[in-house]
Amino acid sequence: MKITNITMKKAEFAFDKPFEIAFAVLYGFETMVLKIDTDEGITGYGEAGPLEYVTGDNLDTCLVIAEEFKKKLIGMDPLAIQSIHTVMNGMYHGHTSVKAAFDIACYDIAAKKMNVPLYRFLGGDNPCLESDVTIGINTPEVMAADCLEWKNKGFNILKIKLGHDIATDAKRIQAIREAVGSDVILRVDANQGWSVKETLQIEPVLRQTGIELIEQPVRDSDFDGLREIRQSVILPVVADESCHLPEDAARIASMRACDGMNIKLMKCGGIEPAVRINAVAEANHLFCMLGCMGESVIANTAAMHLAAAMKNITKIDLDITFFSHCDWITGGFTSEGGKITLSDKPGIGIEVDGF
Ligand SMILES: [Mg+2]
Repeated sequence: MKITNITMKKAEFAFDKPFEIAFAVLYGFETMVLKIDTDEGITGYGEAGPLEYVTGDNLDTCLVIAEEFKKKLIGMDPLAIQSIHTVMNGMYHGHTSVKAAFDIACYDIAAKKMNVPLYRFLGGDNPCLESDVTIGINTPEVMAADCLEWKNKGFNILKIKLGHDIATDAKRIQAIREAVGSDVILRVDANQGWSVKETLQIEPVLRQTGIELIEQPVRDSDFDGLREIRQSVILPVVADESCHLPEDAARIASMRACDGMNIKLMKCGGIEPAVRINAVAEANHLFCMLGCMGESVIANTAAMHLAAAMKNITKIDLDITFFSHCDWITGGFTSEGGKITLSDKPGIGIEVDGF
């Protein structure tokens, strides 16, 4: 099989309402949607959802780099995903979201060639998974009301964004627990917003409130801080912004600096490196979460397939499509509350109109 053409397009998606995390307020997102055509008539779709302050790239750089990749990748075999990554990594360091776009499209093609859904191509046998939904930072009262609203929509797992001052963060989490009751799983993501000391101060409160885990309490580069927290607290600690690539996973695992790692296709460069991060984590007895960035049904569904396939990915944070709507990219999965069932169509299972 040979790649005959590659097409890129900028796409805009708006959130249903503004979304606040520790270091930004987000109103919507733009992505680069990518299509790879082959000489066998199989087409694959991919997507880059860069987030400058996490991945270091943006949509403009994605489009430029994608044009450069296109020149080298046309004529290559899309099933030779290792070689495709070797070519891309040989051209540019970083630029993981654009690499993810090409990687996802190649996996879409490979699974379509096998005539199976992507989760089966990746070795899985169960199309069902359950995602959390993320609650942005606001006053304790507003966050508690948001949480109750999502619980009433059928979501059993909520990921709470914290990371401002710990006194208010403690009030937030207590108000939320009071609102949703004891039967909802609550996990916390501080998005680098706390110091080591602040984390050690708030952790007993989080524990008493029945929190499941703490994600990325300290700055991304503070590996020692992460380890200090992990060794001092009882709640599981998850590395997100500290863990981009398989190399980061190896470093964090060898430091014993976390209990779990949050894999995102946009941080690592696609499914192939994500599989390697999961392998590093699993071999070190660490669990994985699968998260997402600003991305549409294309990348988000690809991530769901990966999460469904891998037994060690036990926490799912693939909620972006619960917040935004898109009428020209459809299919992929159905959901009821946070319970997702992947489509049994070959590949990612999505349809793209007018592209
Ligand atoms: Mg996170």
